[in-house]
Amino acid sequence: NPVEAFDLVVFGITGDLAHRKILPALCHRFSIGQIPKETRIIGVARGEKSKEQFHAEMAEALDKHLPKGRCDDQCVKDFLDCFHYVKLDVLGEDGWQELKDLLNERPNPVRAFYLSVAPSLFAEISVRLGKSGIATEGSRIVLEKPFGHDLQSAKDLNARLKSCFDECQIYRIDHYLGKETVQNLMALRFANALFEPLWNSQHIDHVQITVAETLGIAGRGGYYDHAGAMRDMVQNHMMQVMCLIAMEPPARFDADSVRDEKLKVIKALDPLDIRNTVRGQYRAGNGGGSYREEAENPDSMTESAVALKAAISNWRWSGVPFYLRTGKRLRAHVSEIMIKFKEPPHNIFEQSRPAEGNALILRLQPGEGITLMMTIKEPGSGGMRFLRVPLDMSFAETLGGRTGVLGNAYERLIMDVIRGDQTLFMRGDEAEAAWAWVDPVIAAWQESGERPQPYDALGSGPEAALALMHRDGREWREIE
Ligand code: NAD
Repeated sequence: NPVEAFDLVVFGITGDLAHRKILPALCHRFSIGQIPKETRIIGVARGEKSKEQFHAEMAEALDKHLPKGRCDDQCVKDFLDCFHYVKLDVLGEDGWQELKDLLNERPNPVRAFYLSVAPSLFAEISVRLGKSGIATEGSRIVLEKPFGHDLQSAKDLNARLKSCFDECQIYRIDHYLGKETVQNLMALRFANALFEPLWNSQHIDHVQITVAETLGIAGRGGYYDHAGAMRDMVQNHMMQVMCLIAMEPPARFDADSVRDEKLKVIKALDPLDIRNTVRGQYRAGNGGGSYREEAENPDSMTESAVALKAAISNWRWSGVPFYLRTGKRLRAHVSEIMIKFKEPPHNIFEQSRPAEGNALILRLQPGEGITLMMTIKEPGSGGMRFLRVPLDMSFAETLGGRTGVLGNAYERLIMDVIRGDQTLFMRGDEAEAAWAWVDPVIAAWQESGERPQPYDALGSGPEAALALMHRDGREWREIE
């Protein structure tokens, strides 16, 4: 459904994220008629540019990053008519009045500010928007990740944001929550009668969440070397996914009902025991260079991989471990969730055991889909022999062309901002609670003075991550 025309100010319009994600997302929604042509997209950056120059830059970015066939030339041209540019250094005094005048010229009903700039500028921009009156009562502010560096900085940022904006105006983006499969987790659990009765410690043996990347950190070392995998991946994306798997059914599918339930999960997490954590750092191998070379920091102690075992101490999950692992420069690019069910309580087949228990696998990327691993009888075998086979549902096959129309996570999230739906955005208290859980482990790692365990670039990750599972008599699902 089309939204009402809106005004969106993008701080950092010349940056990597704006070019690769925000512009193509907006352009696609424009092309399918969801964004009206009266919408204004006001790009902000520091350079001096004429309108023509700015439009040419935006057109070039779209040409490079918009999937081919998404919009024709006329559509891109019409889309660019929505664009305005304001030269403004957010740390200076010039440009703010021009931005205000432009916005007030013929204001659209919804006003949103997207901060696609370094996180160190978030607080400054939000305070200036608030104090100058550029942000009005109903305005929305969108913040990119990372939201803080630790609990204290997240608290400080929340306090400064809240001095100018209400929580209901603040949209903390976690693009994982915009992914179809992640939202499908909620549909799977709460729109089907089949799984929820089994979704507890009586029937589930354990849960695995994997985010494996083949890319290293080349070109992003400056940011990453100060962050590491725990801050970059676990504190936000992976904990958010864990919350959606573990939360109680919210009474309604609205922002606060869902976020209240997610927060309860984070608060029910046992403090992490450092012995249940592994951190790794890739070394040269399989033709790939080492982390330290790419970070240009020969002594770096930053982890490029983490594996951990979490425990949620509540009625539903007591005794069910949640294993999380993530890493850069691994041999496969895969994000998936596996819910491993317990074995049937009694084996009636005396000679042979059914092969492993059932598992439900939700693939976030690549090839989004859902698979239920079942045990069947091996065809033609004498007696009872078993096979483990997938009941497979690939979104691309099942939904065909419709998956193309859905577009990427950013599209969905940006349109949610315009519609005023915060369900898929992290609330301030959630972000703080997540930092409170990871901070002590990061501190303990630092205190130990130990180097993260080296693992081969483009290999299968730190040995100790395998041992973390084997210790419990379990296996990671093979990544491929
Ligand atoms: P970038 O360095 O490519 O772009 C930063 C933008 O900010 C540029 O347009 C620059 O002109 C502008 N800018 C910098 N200082 C400014 C100032 N004083 N006044 C006005 N404008 C200023 O950064 P990016 O990669 O696009 O990242 C932007 C944000 O998105 C960051 O918070 C980052 O953590 C987050 N993020 C980026 C990615 C990604 O893939 N690039 C992924 C997730 C999150």
